[in-house]
Amino acid sequence: MKFLALLLFVAGVAFSQANLPVLGDGYQNTPLIPGTNWHVHDNRRPYPPVVTPGAFVSVPAPADAVVLFDGTNMDKWCKGDGKPSGWRIVDGYMEAVPKQGSIRTKDNFGSIQLHVEWASPYPPKGTSQGRGNSGVIIMGRYEIQVLDSYESTTYADGQAAAVYGQYPPLVNVCRKPGEWQSYDIIFLAPEFNDDGSLKKPAYVTVIHNGVVVHNHVEILGPTGHKSIGKYSRHGKAPLSLQDHGNPTRYKNIWVRSLD
Ligand code: MG
Repeated sequence: MKFLALLLFVAGVAFSQANLPVLGDGYQNTPLIPGTNWHVHDNRRPYPPVVTPGAFVSVPAPADAVVLFDGTNMDKWCKGDGKPSGWRIVDGYMEAVPKQGSIRTKDNFGSIQLHVEWASPYPPKGTSQGRGNSGVIIMGRYEIQVLDSYESTTYADGQAAAVYGQYPPLVNVCRKPGEWQSYDIIFLAPEFNDDGSLKKPAYVTVIHNGVVVHNHVEILGPTGHKSIGKYSRHGKAPLSLQDHGNPTRYKNIWVRSLD
């Protein structure tokens, strides 16, 4: 009897997932996200509700922060291979220059509080993942998506403020393209045993434009397109900003160590 109930339950879940409407771009042939019935970038996964944020507030760096960008120079940043960043500085912000590649900090970080301000390109161009795509990639492995998700859709776990491929934000609190937005991120680095196995996964809390969009969620592994990576032992690592071919802007970036 129990077995029959279980069978009906499993069939019911499979049936209910299969009958959900396709919402837009995305996939169903990708791996299942552990602990969920959703595939990575599932095109049936519901979009989070839209919330209009309050007025933008630029939060100045506190005294004990490491200022990574104050609008004047790229001294703290370089290309992945250590060569000078190819991004440009305009009017106190930095702008991704397509094909110049992602940039990373010269310093390494572990657990952090991070403040980043960003703006999607204006006028907006492209759709879905091609619309203002960039990203804040913590430890070079764990991406908090940067995308123009203002009245623009993509798969839910790839929209702005998603833990890419794992968690859609709790709400969509995006501003219009061209307007400044903020991320405040509290990231707890993963810990590893001496044999390299995972001792404790990474956790992240993200506040987008003053609104909590992830509340201490467990990062399931390195983020990736159509995949969830496996943890492999690493120490402190640089913070990266992604070049995904779109001229996304950043300013007022600062970090505080939580180690
Ligand atoms: Mg991205």
